[in-house]
Amino acid sequence: MKESLLSLTFEKLQEVLIKLGQPKYRAEQIFNQLHNNKILEQMSNIPKDLVTSLKENYDDVCLQIIKVQESKDGTKKFLYRLNDGNIIEGVLMNYKFGYTLCVSSQVGCRMGCKFCASGIDGLVRNLTSGEIISQAIVANSFLGGTTFDRKVTNIVLMGSGEPLDNYDNVLEFIKIATDKHGLNYSQRNISLSTCGLVDKIYMLAKSGNQINLCISFHAPNDEIRSKIMPVSKAYKINDIINACKYYFTKTNRRILFEYIMIDGINSSKEDALMLAKLISNMNCIVNLINLNEVKENNFKKCEPETIDNFAKILKSYKINVTTRRSLGNDIDGACGQLRRRFINKE
Ligand code: SAH
Repeated sequence: MKESLLSLTFEKLQEVLIKLGQPKYRAEQIFNQLHNNKILEQMSNIPKDLVTSLKENYDDVCLQIIKVQESKDGTKKFLYRLNDGNIIEGVLMNYKFGYTLCVSSQVGCRMGCKFCASGIDGLVRNLTSGEIISQAIVANSFLGGTTFDRKVTNIVLMGSGEPLDNYDNVLEFIKIATDKHGLNYSQRNISLSTCGLVDKIYMLAKSGNQINLCISFHAPNDEIRSKIMPVSKAYKINDIINACKYYFTKTNRRILFEYIMIDGINSSKEDALMLAKLISNMNCIVNLINLNEVKENNFKKCEPETIDNFAKILKSYKINVTTRRSLGNDIDGACGQLRRRFINKE
């Protein structure tokens, strides 16, 4: 596969164009149009010979939407085909403030969380920064948005893959997504969810970025966590908490702890109490998510009452708690239901 122009930061694109003897403004023209979902041939202000020489070394398309499914609740699931034939999924949720796009960072995932469908085939490969930003570009364009009038207002790195396991490309993606010549996202409108790769959380904290950090926590102690998340062998809960505190001091961003409620595993009153004691002195929000059942495993979701009781205990420790509405369930677009697919399996 050729490198994609969409994987280039504005500065790198500028360097490429200057080497080709182009004037400085050319980078702005090309970067902006790429991020408005245009291919080189559609850029009427770009000389034909430049189009030809760029195409010798670079691709200008990373992926295409091949299918859109719409849920009863209005959530849309996109199937994107990458240039090498791999298929990834993305979910677009419509909230009062606008659209939030859930993007994937890898084809498959190697974290192996027991409740999640995304990692069933293991990791196939990392996505490039171009493939990550392209999910936002095509979704924005699908909604009739442009770089000047964005319809996708928020991006969450919560699709398939572990974003911190693809650290360099994800950081490049953030740089590209927040570039004023392109989609110009504010760091506040980008969230990254991780299962807790501690050393990478420190790196992210020191990187100068200020995106929202979400931690897939899912257990009040290492013993329970190790039953559902193999990553807990490498990183202990206390180390994750320390990394989160560090992240907060560096970025001033409140941490969001995601906590899937799985019946009989992590959802008892004792579990709630243990969790409350663990995080009550932190500046954080806990987002309780009822398990989305997937056919590949036997985990069961909780009764609403169990979730209410769990939330009450956390609240009694003055912890902010929200419960996530599960969107897109009927199209397998809800958390943990995304999986890699090949066209011939569709
Ligand atoms: N690898 C990252 C990004 C994936 S985010 C991470 O672990 O955070 C996907 C979110 O959906 C995570 O919080 C994940 O734990 C959650 N999730 C996975 N499977 C789920 C399921 N079956 N039901 C509900 N949430 C699930």
